[in-house]
Amino acid sequence: MQRFTCTVCISPLFFENSRCLACGTQLGFHRGERSITALDDDGRYVDRAGQSLVRCVNLTLSGCTWLVREEGDECFSCTLTRTRPDDHDTTGLAQFLDAERSKRHLIYELDTLGLPIEDRIRNPERGLAFDLLSSVEEKVVIGHQNGLITIDLAETVDSHREKMRAKLDEPYRTMLGHFRHETGHYVEGTLVFSDPEMTERARAIFGDDRDSYQDALKRHYDQGPPEGWEKNHISQYATMHPYEDFAETFAHYLHICDTVDTALQYGLAGGPGPATTADFGEVVRETWIPLSVALNQVNRSMGANDLYPFVLPPAVIAKLEFVHRLRAGTARAQSRTSTTGPSAAG
Ligand SMILES: [Zn+2]
Ligand SMILES: [Zn+2]
Ligand SMILES: [Zn+2]
Repeated sequence: MQRFTCTVCISPLFFENSRCLACGTQLGFHRGERSITALDDDGRYVDRAGQSLVRCVNLTLSGCTWLVREEGDECFSCTLTRTRPDDHDTTGLAQFLDAERSKRHLIYELDTLGLPIEDRIRNPERGLAFDLLSSVEEKVVIGHQNGLITIDLAETVDSHREKMRAKLDEPYRTMLGHFRHETGHYVEGTLVFSDPEMTERARAIFGDDRDSYQDALKRHYDQGPPEGWEKNHISQYATMHPYEDFAETFAHYLHICDTVDTALQYGLAGGPGPATTADFGEVVRETWIPLSVALNQVNRSMGANDLYPFVLPPAVIAKLEFVHRLRAGTARAQSRTSTTGPSAAG
């Protein structure tokens, strides 16, 4: 995450801030300019292109500060949500606010990495969309199908998520992690399986995705991960099926890129970052491993759990490298078609 400061009083800001806590200035996030900007007394910001913008209609509902063209409009991130809790479901709506915050963080990072997002309007069959569902009254299964991601909002509640984490014997479980993992399935569908050559390369690294998912699921929950899984996989869940291996790897790729970027911005790390080298192994070995060891020590000093309770063997670094190269492929394809990143607010 980049380092934001208030344009009025230069106090540090968090990505989520709707107003500067030091000087009170109202703020909005401009997706195209990738900046948090001060709004005038009418709640407007005139951007570099001369457009007058206001904040997204969901400011109160979901804390969204992203800028839009017209009063009452939803921003790009908000329009990706297809289903949310009903207005009468106050528990679900409070959880929805937390989930939307994680979702905006995800969209911001996908933009940073230059990973393309097509919504359901541009691609009704496979575009990205989210059902953020309250499991207060019905069972919700987290998952992905053809671009549609389902999230159980109960996972925003610490006690529930911790219970699930312990039950599934996971070292780590967060809402942002769920968004990153499920988006991994979307990205594999759009950037890998759309290209026969990439598909072959993915199969050589992650295994054959044509293996029965149902059989894999049953085997995983009956027998657990295979002996010695740590040498080739980032997590037990990644051993289940090549789809899950890719999604887990993708989630870790985003964890690492975001955390390294943030640490570099705040002067907490040295070494190459994801934007400065084509060799992701270099980022892992020279920047991420020293940084994550230090951060784990910092957490232990605070009596907290390790920030990054994972080991990255060479086989997993090779998988991360595959994801890193997908980005380079995207950049080449984009320059060929001269498509640019997000140009407007939203
Ligand atoms: Zn300020
Ligand atoms: Zn919004
Ligand atoms: Zn998955």
